[in-house]
Order: sequence, then C-alpha cells, then structure tokens
Amino acid sequence: MILDGRMVANLRNGILKEKITSNNVKLKTAIIIVGNNEASLVYVKNKIKAAKKVGIETVLYHLDEETTEKTLTDLIGKLNNDKTIDGILLQVPLPSHLDDYKFINLIDYKKDIDGFTTINQGRLFQKLPTINSATPQGIINLLNHYNINVSGMNAVVIGRSQIVGLPVAKLLTDLNATVTICHSRTKDLSLYTKNADLIVVAVGSPKLLTADMVKEGVIVVDVGINRVNGKLEGDVDFEGVSKKAKYITPVPKGVGPMTINALLENIYKIKGGF
Ligand code: NAD
Repeated sequence: MILDGRMVANLRNGILKEKITSNNVKLKTAIIIVGNNEASLVYVKNKIKAAKKVGIETVLYHLDEETTEKTLTDLIGKLNNDKTIDGILLQVPLPSHLDDYKFINLIDYKKDIDGFTTINQGRLFQKLPTINSATPQGIINLLNHYNINVSGMNAVVIGRSQIVGLPVAKLLTDLNATVTICHSRTKDLSLYTKNADLIVVAVGSPKLLTADMVKEGVIVVDVGINRVNGKLEGDVDFEGVSKKAKYITPVPKGVGPMTINALLENIYKIKGGF
C-alpha cells in the first residue's frame, strides 16, 4: 500500500487553513536565502506558495552571494526583535564563507520554525516541548495517519544527518521502536535492513535500498531526493521493494509534501508558544 504523502499533506493543510481562518490568526514568517543555489530557490518558492495557500504571510529576504557575516547577523537580530514576525527560516546551505549553524543559532529558538537551533534540538533530546524539524515530524505524521504503531518494531534509519536521520531516529525511539542507525561506514547494510520492520532511508543515493535487502511486509519511508535523467527519484528501488513492502512512500508525493505541511504546522504552533 502506498503511503500517500500528498493526500495526507493536503488533508492536514486544509485543517490548518481552517484553524487559521476561523480563528483569524495572523501569521507572518521571514524567509532568508543567501545566494542563488538552484535547489534552494525552488524549495523557497514552494514554501512561499504553500504558506500562502493556508493563509500564512511570508516576507522574503533574498541576499546576494557575497553577503557579509555582519549583514546576515544584523538581519537575523532585527527579525528576532520584530514583534510582527512569528517565524524565521534561514535556507541552508549558505554560501561557503558563511557557517550554516553559526547563523541558524542566531535565530531566537522561539521563532525557529525549522527546529534546527541547538536549543530546539537539545529540547528534543531532553523530551521538552520543542519545534521538531519538518521532515522527521512529517514522517511521524504520515505513519500516524495510517495508524502505523511503531512500538516494539525493529526500525532502521539509513542516514545520520542532523536534520533528518538523527532526529527521526530519536522520534522513533520515543515511540518505542528499537532503532538502528546506519550510515556511510556501515559495513553490511542488508544485515540490518533484512531484519527491519520499518526502514527510513535518508541518504541521497538512487536505488540504495533494493528488494533483496528487505523482508516481506516491511514498511519503507523514502526521504531521498535525486534527479535522475531529469526525473525525481528517491533512495529506494521502488519497483522491486514495493512488491515486498506492506507500506511504502513514493517519490515524489511522499515525504516531500509532508515536510512542507509540518513546516507550516510549526509556524502555527510557534505562534501559540511551546
Ligand atoms: P546528508 O548528506 O546530510 O546525509 C546523508 C547521510 O547518508 C549521511 O549521514 C551518510 O552517512 C549517509 N550515507 C551516505 N552514503 C551512504 C551509504 N552508501 N549507505 C548508508 N548511508 C550512507 O543528507 P540529508 O540532508 O539527511 O538528506 C538525505 C536525502 O534526503 C537527500 O537526498 C535529501 O535531498 C533528501 N531530503 C528530502 C527531504 C524531503 O522533504 N523529502 C528533506 C530533507 C532531505
């Protein structure tokens, strides 16, 4: 069965829009992008469009590639102090002369809608109310929608990044799954994946997970985004793995829309405090 991220995201976006309009909530988010990274420009455009659809106002700050540390520091400081701005999103990666985490951490954690600041990630690891980064939260929302209870499952997360792999492993652990984290130095990936009830793949490598690596009835969440011959593909050999999987996310229309939805829900949540 397909875990239809697009359908679930549309459903949740509709509910969010209803909450925003019926309660007449005014939400305004600043989006900062530095330079002209092609993929980042597309992501930002999609986020602005999605926000508008549910009634969230965005203000875009598109700074040039040569932006100095001081300019970016001043802008983030100004937005932190601006009471009309509820959330701040700094699109990463920044150009190489600017350190991503240095600037992410200048964002007031109460406006950190991406949940990337040290404070919000620390709060996640201490089980305190926080803003979870959008992709891990979107994955959990998708599993919840299909009533997939991960408690007691053997879960394998492939990828250990700060924004996907590690936080999703933490959220699954909190939901009582037994989680193994695999990564680029894992010697024999299939040793772990063959025994997994749930596999989350977040690597960025097409067809990394193939049918011979999974058991019948596995649940597969494919986070990867790869452009192959002009087409979007995930990290999973969908054709083969879907024949054995009980549930599987497609790419596109799987985790991607759930990520955007979780980001929009974060903006709403942040307004109410957490
Ligand atoms: P990243 O590059 O920060 O991390 C990749 C991880 O994969 C690393 O931890 C690395 O150890 C691991 N890895 C690399 N090669 C491996 C191998 N052969 N076997 C096992 N593990 C290996 O990437 P990221 O930011 O976590 O993103 C991962 C993928 O997910 C990318 O394709 C990205 O575009 C995509 N992504 C999608 C969404 C979405 O909304 N759908 C959101 C974020 C990221």
